[in-house]
Amino acid sequence: MDDAVAALRRLIEDAHRVVVFTGAGISTESGIPDFRSPGGIWTRQNPIYFDKFLASEDARRETWRRRFEMEPVLRTARPNRGHVAVAALVATGRVDAVITQNIDGLHQASGIPARQVIELHGNTTYATCLDCTARYEIADLAAAFAADGRAPRCAHCAGLVKTATVSFGQAMPAAAMVRAEEAVLEADLCLAIGSSLVVYPAAGFPRLAKRNGARLVILNREETELDPLADLVLHRSIGETLGAAVGVQ
Ligand code: NAD
Ligand code: ZN
Repeated sequence: MDDAVAALRRLIEDAHRVVVFTGAGISTESGIPDFRSPGGIWTRQNPIYFDKFLASEDARRETWRRRFEMEPVLRTARPNRGHVAVAALVATGRVDAVITQNIDGLHQASGIPARQVIELHGNTTYATCLDCTARYEIADLAAAFAADGRAPRCAHCAGLVKTATVSFGQAMPAAAMVRAEEAVLEADLCLAIGSSLVVYPAAGFPRLAKRNGARLVILNREETELDPLADLVLHRSIGETLGAAVGVQ
């Protein structure tokens, strides 16, 4: 174990309450591309804002076309060593909540109880009607889209159907925001893992942890704006580093 990993392990051992905050970087080792790495999704396509989705059938079709294109990757992705390390930390009982920006469901798939995963940006593994909240499965929507090329509508109320995610320009889920704040305020250590920490309000949580007196660790391959605030910064691969610090394979 090298010095940086040993320092991370010591901070974790010294903490009473740990809050984990994750971004797309923790899932790249599962084969899901992030947004802002070189070659990430934003280097290839622009985001579609929520008002565009509401206003334009073309925007909805394009949103769904992109989602179905990702389906083979999302459906087969499995938790990697980084997810397993986070799950092992949760199992020690000192982590109340994993606050995630991710929409892939891999924290739950790694064995963390769903009630302990706070999804700030929702979940893309299923869809809901924007009007009546009826749930739809991606496989069914994909089959219908392949047949008629139209963006899905609700079978009950004809409302617009969208993945259960929070798009740019869409309101944040109020309950998740409150729970995340509570978890942060109770923690004396915050681990920010695999996030460029530029998407707000999500990136406000590691900041809040630090302002509240907690220690802050940033584990991310590239520099982030919050690096100067952190007690420990590791510009390294997540799976290897966290796996070694927590002691999981
Ligand atoms: P981001 O793309 O802005 O940043 C990811 C960061 O992770 C980058 O700085 C990159 O250097 C780092 N990284 C990537 N792989 C790494 C690895 N193996 N080891 C160490 N560092 C690694 O992601 P973000 O901050 O989460 O913000 C993007 C938004 O996109 C989020 O709001 C999220 O909702 C969404 N998103 C989610 C997924 C997912 O669910 N897996 C994937 C793409 C985007
Ligand atoms: Zn409906």
